[in-house]
Amino acid sequence: MLYSELVAVYEDLSKTPKRLEKIAILSKFISDFRGHEEFIYLFRGRVFPDYDSREFGISTQLVLKAISRATGVSSEEVVSLFKKLGDLGNVAFSIFEKSKQKSLFSKSLSVEHVFTSLRKITEIKGDGAVDKKLNIISELLINSKPIEAKYIVRTLLSDLRIGVADAVLIESINLNFFSGDKSTLEKVQRAYDLLTDYSEVLKLCENGLDAINYVKLIPGRPTNVMLAVKVLDIDEAFEVCGTPAAFEHKYDGFRTLISSDGKNVNIFTRKLENVTLQFPDIVSFVKEYVKAKKFIIDAEAVGYDSTTGNYLPFESISQRIKRKYNISELAKKIPVELNVFDVIYLDGESVVELPFKERRKILEKIIENFPKKIRIATQLITSDKKEADKFYKDALKIGEEGIMIKNLNSTYVSGRYVGTMAKLKPVTADLDLVIVGAEYGTGKRAGGLTSFIVACRDGEKFVEVGRVSSGLKEKISEGTTYSEINNLLQPLIISEDENVVRVKPKIIMSVTYQNIQPSSSYSSGFALRFPRITHYRPDKDLRDIASLEDIKLEINKMFRKLGKKKVG
Ligand code: AMP
Repeated sequence: MLYSELVAVYEDLSKTPKRLEKIAILSKFISDFRGHEEFIYLFRGRVFPDYDSREFGISTQLVLKAISRATGVSSEEVVSLFKKLGDLGNVAFSIFEKSKQKSLFSKSLSVEHVFTSLRKITEIKGDGAVDKKLNIISELLINSKPIEAKYIVRTLLSDLRIGVADAVLIESINLNFFSGDKSTLEKVQRAYDLLTDYSEVLKLCENGLDAINYVKLIPGRPTNVMLAVKVLDIDEAFEVCGTPAAFEHKYDGFRTLISSDGKNVNIFTRKLENVTLQFPDIVSFVKEYVKAKKFIIDAEAVGYDSTTGNYLPFESISQRIKRKYNISELAKKIPVELNVFDVIYLDGESVVELPFKERRKILEKIIENFPKKIRIATQLITSDKKEADKFYKDALKIGEEGIMIKNLNSTYVSGRYVGTMAKLKPVTADLDLVIVGAEYGTGKRAGGLTSFIVACRDGEKFVEVGRVSSGLKEKISEGTTYSEINNLLQPLIISEDENVVRVKPKIIMSVTYQNIQPSSSYSSGFALRFPRITHYRPDKDLRDIASLEDIKLEINKMFRKLGKKKVG
């Protein structure tokens, strides 16, 4: 298949904002991938399944250099055009269109060639890596037509701009194979949530309804975890989860999916990242205290102070997620306790279809409680509001973040907010928000990004809710630093205007605030007052950040306290 054919589809997709049109365009093209199902990753700007965290590791600077090298246009000119256009894909297009140097030697790019070259880039490490990457990118660009150069650049920067979210891709697959039927959509979605691999979903669909009906969980691989909706109070918790419901402590650590295939134990975050190497302690006590061979359990890992035994806030354990060296030393300093709250696979059988109360029974059977290592989540089953309220208050008293409420009869629904699991936290608990822009500081902080524009999600879009400039630290020993966040944001910059940059939404922060107000200054229509960053959340995914509904819920909680009217 020619890369130009794929690029023509990218162009069609980018031209329409309409979801249904996007689905129709994609759906037609998807059958062309038969035999090369992995090419479907290219619609998400990737070359691996979602659970595979290999990345291109390409900075804006490197792409600027490659464009200059491939066209003979000076770096200064490329940079100045970038400042004018604000999107490197468009910069590449415009320069390639004018450039006379290319063409003589160029050959038509195939999707196979682009795909393998992109995969090669992810494998390059160590000495001379930058040059080797530059060579591959230049070779691709030299053989590109202007429009192809635009999308190669955008793919490398993980900023495809074709508006294809997961949901759109799932619906296109369903439209192609099952005529867009509602009942099969559920099944395709479920297959994706369990396998987290579009290529495999395509292969299943090619084999028909039976294959998609009997999709099997694969131990050793992560699945999308079940997500919780937010509730306002105990009454609403019962409304959402039914009576009686299970109430559990909400532990403040990071979510881990622990998967054993009988030999190896693997630990994944909710972003499907494999963090097994960072947590040898979890591997060893899971091997010792989980009485089963093959299983996948869902748990919250919470750090504690090795001398006092006190539980530590998320910030400290986030050091462990990021750490790539001296791992055992840090594991001794900040050990973790695993609080297990669900099981989705046991000895050859997926148990996602069992009601939660049955899955809990399995947990009680297979897990030997050993405080400060592994234990089953503290739980109360009740229909009584007073009892539930006391459970909530007691959880807060001992420093937990809040409570989780679960429907006793619900199946494990991967990857979606379905209202069978809810969370209840106090007013003005932190919100997880994504940084979409930032401003360079002045004076002492000149040259660095110091003020961050944060956004919540609104469907598949991100809408701004404020600017936050406090909470980050100067010294690493005190927590997440300005320079750490600057280093993370620099490669994500997509445009610059005076001293304000827009960045690709990727870096997620927990933000606390005094209150939230309606405001016309931000695209959400709301603004956080006195926001402060509390943590960097490398473990969270864009799907996990606060939604506009969550923000409205927070306002309603505050209004209710003040006796004001609800916002819609
Ligand atoms: P939030 O991070 O505020 O969206 O709350 C949901 C998260 O709470 C889950 O993704 C888990 O990481 C965490 N959590 C802590 N304790 C529990 C529990 N007992 N059951 C389910 N999730 C829990």
